[in-house]
Amino acid sequence: MSNNDILQALADMSHYMGDPNRGYAILGEGNTSARLDKDTIYIKASGTSLGTMTRDDFLPVSISRVTQVLENPNATDDDVRDCLRASLCNANEKRLPSVETMLHALLYAYPEYNFIAHTHPVACNGLLCSVNAREAMSGRLCPDHVVMMGRASVFVPYVDPGLVLAREVRDRVRRFVEEEHEPPKAIMLENHGLFALGATAKAVMNITAMAEKMAHVVIGAYSAGGPQFMTQQDVDRIATRPDEKYRQQEIG
Ligand SMILES: [Zn+2]
Repeated sequence: MSNNDILQALADMSHYMGDPNRGYAILGEGNTSARLDKDTIYIKASGTSLGTMTRDDFLPVSISRVTQVLENPNATDDDVRDCLRASLCNANEKRLPSVETMLHALLYAYPEYNFIAHTHPVACNGLLCSVNAREAMSGRLCPDHVVMMGRASVFVPYVDPGLVLAREVRDRVRRFVEEEHEPPKAIMLENHGLFALGATAKAVMNITAMAEKMAHVVIGAYSAGGPQFMTQQDVDRIATRPDEKYRQQEIG
C-alpha cells in the first residue's frame, strides 16, 4: 500500500468508527492509527473527531521516540506531553497527537498489526461499566464470535488513561501472546472501551462491529438468566477448522 492509500484507508476507517448512528464514538471520543513503516505511525491529532476527520488530521509519529517515556518509572504528566511533542515527525507541527499515542505505538511492536481503532461503543461499555464486566468479556458465545475475534480477548481492569494504561496493556498483551501464541484481536478496557487490532482497516472495522453485536447478545443473555459461553473445546475446534479459517480470510 502507498502512503496515500494507507492514509485514505485510515480516514475511511475513522469515519466508520465515528458515524454517530453506530454509537462507537461521538464528539472527540476514541482514536485511530495506521502503520506507515517500521518506526512510523499515523495517529489522530488530539481534539479532532473521528466522524469528521480529514487526512490532514493524522500526525506522523515515531514509535521508538513516543515509547521511550514508558521506560521512565517517574514520568510526570509534563514528561508525557514533552514526549508526545518530541515524537512528531514534522518539526513544525503545532498540534499534539492523541493522549493514547503511547498505547497505539507499543502495540505496533507486533508485526501482525497495521491498523488500530479505539472506541467507546455503547453496548460494549454497558458491559465494561457493569459489575459483571470481567465475566461478560470472558468467553465466546457463537462460532462467528470466534471467527471474527479469535479465541479470547485481553481484559484490562480500570487504570489511569495514558501512561499507566499503556504499561498495563503492554504487560497484559505480552502475557496473552505467551499463552495464546498469537496477538489478540481485541482488548477490553474496564470502565473505558475497546481496542480493535488488525492487519487491515477492514479487519479492525469487522472486529469492532462484532464486539458491539456480541455485547448486545451478552446483555440479552443476562436478561435471560446469564450467558452460556461455548466450551474451550468447542472454541478451539472453530478456531482451527480449515473452512472457518477460509471464511475469516474471505471476510477480511
Ligand atoms: Zn478512550
